[in-house]
Amino acid sequence: MAQQTMSFQAEVKQLLQLMIHSLYSNKEIFLRELISNASDAADKLRFEAINNDALYENDPQLRIRVGYDKAARTVFIEDNGIGMSRDDAVTHLGTIAKSGTREFFQRLTGDQQKDAALIGQFGVGFYSGFIVADKITVESRRAGLPGNEGVRWESGGEGDFTVETIERAARGTTITLHLREGEDELLSSWRLKSIIQKYSDHISLPIVMRKESWDAEKSEMVLQDEDETVNQASALWTRSKSEITDEQYQAFYEHIAHDSEAPLAWAHNRVEGRSEYTQLLYVPSHAPYDLWDRSQRAGIKLYVRRVFIMDDAEQLMPSYLRFVRGVVDSSDLPLNVSREILQESRDVKAIREGGTKRVLGLLEDLAENQKEKYTTFWRTFGQVLKEGLGEDNANRERLAKLLRFASTRQDSDEQSVSLADYVARMKEGQDKIYYVTAESWQAASHSPHLEVFRKKDVEVLLLTDRVDEWMLSFLQEFDGKPLVSVARGDLDLGQLEDTQVKEEREKIGETFKPLIEKMQEALKDKAKEVRVTFRLTDSPSCLVADEHDMSGTLQRLLKAAGQKAPNFKPILEINPEHALVRRLSADDSQLADWSHLLFDQALLAEGGSLEDPAAFVKRTNTLLLGHLQ
Ligand code: ADP
Ligand code: MG
Repeated sequence: MAQQTMSFQAEVKQLLQLMIHSLYSNKEIFLRELISNASDAADKLRFEAINNDALYENDPQLRIRVGYDKAARTVFIEDNGIGMSRDDAVTHLGTIAKSGTREFFQRLTGDQQKDAALIGQFGVGFYSGFIVADKITVESRRAGLPGNEGVRWESGGEGDFTVETIERAARGTTITLHLREGEDELLSSWRLKSIIQKYSDHISLPIVMRKESWDAEKSEMVLQDEDETVNQASALWTRSKSEITDEQYQAFYEHIAHDSEAPLAWAHNRVEGRSEYTQLLYVPSHAPYDLWDRSQRAGIKLYVRRVFIMDDAEQLMPSYLRFVRGVVDSSDLPLNVSREILQESRDVKAIREGGTKRVLGLLEDLAENQKEKYTTFWRTFGQVLKEGLGEDNANRERLAKLLRFASTRQDSDEQSVSLADYVARMKEGQDKIYYVTAESWQAASHSPHLEVFRKKDVEVLLLTDRVDEWMLSFLQEFDGKPLVSVARGDLDLGQLEDTQVKEEREKIGETFKPLIEKMQEALKDKAKEVRVTFRLTDSPSCLVADEHDMSGTLQRLLKAAGQKAPNFKPILEINPEHALVRRLSADDSQLADWSHLLFDQALLAEGGSLEDPAAFVKRTNTLLLGHLQ
């Protein structure tokens, strides 16, 4: 087929522009990206060859070659991996196939460093070649295709690219970068080698270069015919821990996670026994752009006896640990394992359980010994970890210890109080863990339900994440102490209340009976019940959910998420010690208006919205006027 000129997808053009500018200060990463693609291509070949040995075409020694040509001012990266057909080149090098492209563009900030990290995460490696090159030529042939079905792809990285069919004997891909003005320092083995050692040492394939030596006559470095391997060329996780430096662990993380920020922690170990595998797992320090995307890929790569099998092996980690990145290399699984087999495999189950324990161990260690890092972890992934309380029965207790909450003990919304901290400072006679849920920290910390607790100096946890209510349905107690909502059911302060006061209050309650009956009649469409409470000090009224009903917060959350929420009527509690309530009487002609006002106020105070705001305003004004006359 003749040469064809084609246009880049609009997103690619935008990305190219952005990348050349925002990554310029870090331009040497282009080599890491192109080597990483070459290594992926080798992995793919090995994987396809499991069922089709002929793909090796008598050239089974997989390797990557890097070199330069001083006269032509080019740098090349060559592999004998899977290669590309003409169609492959058009789609893979002309479009961005990834989901979430639009979201990605929305998240760009204009801040070079942040954007560079985002680009890295998004994994648009190939185009990074244009940071140093004003023209890139790709020549390739896919393994298994005949020699006359090679492809040459070429572009100046602006609006379009050309493709043509070529003759190519060698399987795999050669990428030639025609350097921009001023990039000549790359025309040196020494320079290329040092970049490779910095970023790509962990690549498990040999990366070879021609040796270079000093030519005294020409007084410059010249290339020799002999090759040398410039990286360690063994999969990092197969080496023993003591031989691996922190820098190497971090470089490997960058490679697999596309994340330029150092991870918070990692665990590397070999498990022997019924099921044998090696795992190298990382906890990132910030969230991937698609943490909340339901279709997001899991972060574990599966290898079987060093052969790459698949990315995104979601069976290997529970969904609440989906932020974990890493590699699992199994000695037991068959090489031709499929996702279906993974689902049923007992070995996979063992790996998943082992991996989960490792990660929880890492987190416990951070929580115990590196509190600052744990705070970062919690801010970033706390909400995801909470999902585990519902998902993972077996580890519920360990997970509960890792939870952190905001509390009335502090003035900020920082979630830093653990259940153990709470229990350790419970009051004499306190036998429950109290919490309040609300849609925001503001609403929670100002909730009227907290008044009596403030008065008695009892700590209350402030829960404001969307998953909290759901999570709590799986976490009824901690350390033998039940978790109790301060806004649910009859407030029973247990030993915190002295019996004499209690009896007195019951008497007061009696005297309010006729009033309560009238109010209940007035509010029969809104409230399940009206009753006297002693949980308030400053507010005249509050709403509580009945013992087994859904809380108002959860009902509102469900509605906001477009889901059907059952309509549980709340209970209205009134404060008999409040001046407003004391002035109410059963035969007040405006009692119905007062009742509605107390109800609506209580609803507003917990962050709810009124069904009929106009009626509320009118009623308030009528009552105010009555008072002024
Ligand atoms: P990613 O590696 O995250 O998929 P890149 O932009 O780095 O994104 O590469 C885009 C695609 O181009 C790859 O997914 C692959 O299909 C193809 N590709 C790039 N380099 C090579 C190569 N050396 N051999 C085979 N295919 C390649
Ligand atoms: Mg890539």
